[in-house]
Amino acid sequence: MQHFPIYLNLSDRPVLLAGNGEMALAKLRLLAKTPARITVIAPCPEPSLVALVAEIGATLLRRAPEATDLQGAALAYAATGDANEDARLARLARAAGVLVNIVDNLEGSDFITPAIVDRAPVTIAIGTEGAAPVLARAIKTDLEERLPVTLGTLARAGKLFRHAAEALPQGRARRDFWADYYFSSGPQVLEEAGAELLDHALHALLQDHLNSAPKSGRVDLVGAGPGAPDMMTLRARSLLDRADVVIHDGLVTPEILELARREALFIPVGKQGFGPSTPQEDITALMISHAREGAHVVRLKGGDPSIFGRLDEETAALTEAGITWAVTPGITTASAAAAAIGSSLTRRGRNQALHLLTAQDVAGLAEQDWQALSRPGSVAAIYMGKRAARFVQGRLLMHGADATMPVTIVSNASRPDQRIIATRLDSLATDLADATPDGPAILLMGLAPAAARNALPGLIAEYA
Ligand code: SAH
Repeated sequence: MQHFPIYLNLSDRPVLLAGNGEMALAKLRLLAKTPARITVIAPCPEPSLVALVAEIGATLLRRAPEATDLQGAALAYAATGDANEDARLARLARAAGVLVNIVDNLEGSDFITPAIVDRAPVTIAIGTEGAAPVLARAIKTDLEERLPVTLGTLARAGKLFRHAAEALPQGRARRDFWADYYFSSGPQVLEEAGAELLDHALHALLQDHLNSAPKSGRVDLVGAGPGAPDMMTLRARSLLDRADVVIHDGLVTPEILELARREALFIPVGKQGFGPSTPQEDITALMISHAREGAHVVRLKGGDPSIFGRLDEETAALTEAGITWAVTPGITTASAAAAAIGSSLTRRGRNQALHLLTAQDVAGLAEQDWQALSRPGSVAAIYMGKRAARFVQGRLLMHGADATMPVTIVSNASRPDQRIIATRLDSLATDLADATPDGPAILLMGLAPAAARNALPGLIAEYA
């Protein structure tokens, strides 16, 4: 983020615009939305510029800019369309310590003007640091369509009511009140009764909220999926949006945590294989204490919470503590990995059962029904299997599995650094050691990447 977005208070601040023609007009129209004291400098202004200046009550100077023009200015815009003229204004501005923007010249500018969606006082600034103006415009159009024009009206009435709303305790209660106003009662009053009644409606709504009993806390145990934010369920996203406290695993990616409310309290409780970990009792104690204080807790787990996620231990403790809870499923790694290689986890005539295994349990390397797993056609997704590959390979070969059984290792499934390593049972351990994939990995025993995919270069990073 080379350009830091801020909202500048231009109330009664001088802003200088040097230029003529379409570019200057466009900037002037934008600046006219602010309460800045605008001075336009143009030696020979076009009639349209003269007219707009008069219309918005700006000052027009019919000459070249001088050093004194910039004294005390908050911002300066150079839009003359002449590189030398623009550069001259930029020099004058910088000498006076004034931030300057040269229209359509990113390198020469101290700041850039974003694409703006205007629902004042709600304004959305979109910037791409010059990387993709087309994208900025597309986002703007999208938001323009999505945000009702009445949003500004709601926000203006809301702003005046902020003080009164302080009668509600800070935090959840107040947030619930505002959510109710902006997303439910407010739009309804606007539509049915008009803006004049908004203030009345706000008072009535406040009374309702003051009279209602404080809400009790709850815990949602939520699957975050394999890592890609768009592989989360809509329900998971909306719970994250409302959470007061997010208690998350090491497997949950930063991109997903970004989606939570910024004011939420984030508590990492990493429990990765051999890494540092928070004892299970501490995690449950955390959930219980926050929920008892009335917080909405989201316990966010990688993949699906019901698969190797110690879900029952947590829900049992919550039940015992008398706390309301619910589970939201997520895409488990086996599904994401199978999708990545374009294969089906089950197939008629090949495997009627699918094994989801963990290579590790509390006691260390986990024993399994190796006999069943060694049968031709058997398919198993092995979680936490990276360090157990040699053990699994030995056990399966010992129980008569076909040495050429396909095995696919998928690491960082669904994430930008996803890797696919296709091998066979007899070379599993050595191929895995050679490839040493970073991050979490799953072993898909009995599955190879779909043949069709093999033909597409780049889709499969490594294919033996
Ligand atoms: N509840 C999770 C599994 C937790 S166990 C789920 O449903 O997916 C942790 C193991 O999951 C890791 O050791 C790894 O084997 C696997 N895993 C989790 N996320 C992964 C990812 N993005 N790519 C590959 N493996 C992953």
